[in-house]
Amino acid sequence: MFDSHFKKIYLLTVLSAMCLTASAIGKTVYVEDIAIVPKPQSVIMADGTFSVKAGKVSKSVKYKTDKSLPEEAYSIVIANKGITVFSSSPSGKFYAKQSIRQMIPADIDTEADILVLPCCTIKDAPAFGYRGAHLDVARHFFSVEEVKEYLDIMALHKLNTFHFHLTEDQGWRIEIKSYPRLTEVGAWRKGTMIEKNFSSNDGVRYGGFYTQKEIKDIVRYAAERFITVIPEIEIPGHSVSVLASYPELGCRGKDYRYEVSTTWGVMPQVCCPGREETFTFWEKVLSEVIELFPSKYVHIGGDECPKDEWRICPLCQKRIKDEGLKNEEELQGYVTRRVEAFLNSKGRSIIGWDEILEGGVTPTATIMSWRGSKGAIQAAKMGNRAILTPNGFCYLDYYQTKDTENEPLAIGGNLPLSKCYSLDPFEELDEEQQKNIIGVQCNLWTEYISTLNYAEYMLLPRLAAIAEVAWTNGRKNMDDFMFRLRHLRTYYDQEGWNYRKQSF
Ligand SMILES: [Zn+2]
Repeated sequence: MFDSHFKKIYLLTVLSAMCLTASAIGKTVYVEDIAIVPKPQSVIMADGTFSVKAGKVSKSVKYKTDKSLPEEAYSIVIANKGITVFSSSPSGKFYAKQSIRQMIPADIDTEADILVLPCCTIKDAPAFGYRGAHLDVARHFFSVEEVKEYLDIMALHKLNTFHFHLTEDQGWRIEIKSYPRLTEVGAWRKGTMIEKNFSSNDGVRYGGFYTQKEIKDIVRYAAERFITVIPEIEIPGHSVSVLASYPELGCRGKDYRYEVSTTWGVMPQVCCPGREETFTFWEKVLSEVIELFPSKYVHIGGDECPKDEWRICPLCQKRIKDEGLKNEEELQGYVTRRVEAFLNSKGRSIIGWDEILEGGVTPTATIMSWRGSKGAIQAAKMGNRAILTPNGFCYLDYYQTKDTENEPLAIGGNLPLSKCYSLDPFEELDEEQQKNIIGVQCNLWTEYISTLNYAEYMLLPRLAAIAEVAWTNGRKNMDDFMFRLRHLRTYYDQEGWNYRKQSF
């Protein structure tokens, strides 16, 4: 329950934060309560305060190891003599630093002001080990610097997994040395459809890609923020950029002229699993990919793969017959199993979108449930691990309000902040099955999101709601969240990040 006493404390915080004592050397800024997003497990207030020059807060923190704490957990003790952080891992220490950062008012003068913090003990640990945010850099391309800014946003919210969606019908975005045409040809499209007019084309050549050196730079930058980068290479659908580069990998054969897509949607042209060279392609690409990404998981897509071409392709039909498969759905299951076996042999595990359940999956595949939560529920009941990213709660490319006329163009839907916050990751699952839910993730598809500024508008503050679900599962109170979110907003301003102001 959010009781009135709690409200009163917060009100006092605001009032006292506004009561600034002016003096020649700066002002004294009183923080009377702790407002952190995601909400810590517990905050126990004590008598007394700790005063410190605003610019010296970091230097006043003592770090101690407490091996009894789980990985990523931390505690912070603020006493009148100083601040002590306890953790068992560098990531726990990092999250403590994020919490301390949120205690220092964003607009404080670090040269002159004195900060007065209340004595208290904060104990904290995440509910889920997988706390993700996804970015589609294929529909629209984001520079290395922009990706780093995205990672900075994730770090403040204690998210730890960046799902890097690198390949699509509309563009291939990662340098692969054994298949150079992927970036010579596949990374570029002859224009882009205008708004939602599928027969239009702006006529402007569009594209871009990351060199392997740039990918390493992104992975290193993320690791410094305790973020694992999971690459996604779409297999076997969403692959027109592959076929435009290497038409011999498609069911239509090497003489067909594929072109990198200029419109959005689900394309019927997909890779041909009847051909052995298609598997060689996937294995060589993935071999280079895993050299660049140390993550345990590799995401192999698997979503939205129409089977029309497989139904009429003699090679695909021969594969179905030779392997004793029932139909084209099982042919996709065959692709998934072969690619998974290859990655397993290299010590990696796969994640696939929930469509991979339809062709039958091995018990070791992790399912990313996007068409609602049903994929995760089915997977968890089967004993497979699952990540929740249901579109009705986690698709941040959806509109943030019903009043879409006053919003920038979005793909559709209506996903207000409160809906994101209401996600229940354990819906319909018993205690044993709940253990198979490894985390929660928000997704940002970029058909209509062509700039980082717009991406930030769609992310913030909804990403904060998903981060709180992933970090605190079960400790939810929307009013309390909104209060802390208004405080968090001041850091968005400090960083110059765009966000949807009407959501506060
Ligand atoms: Zn085929």
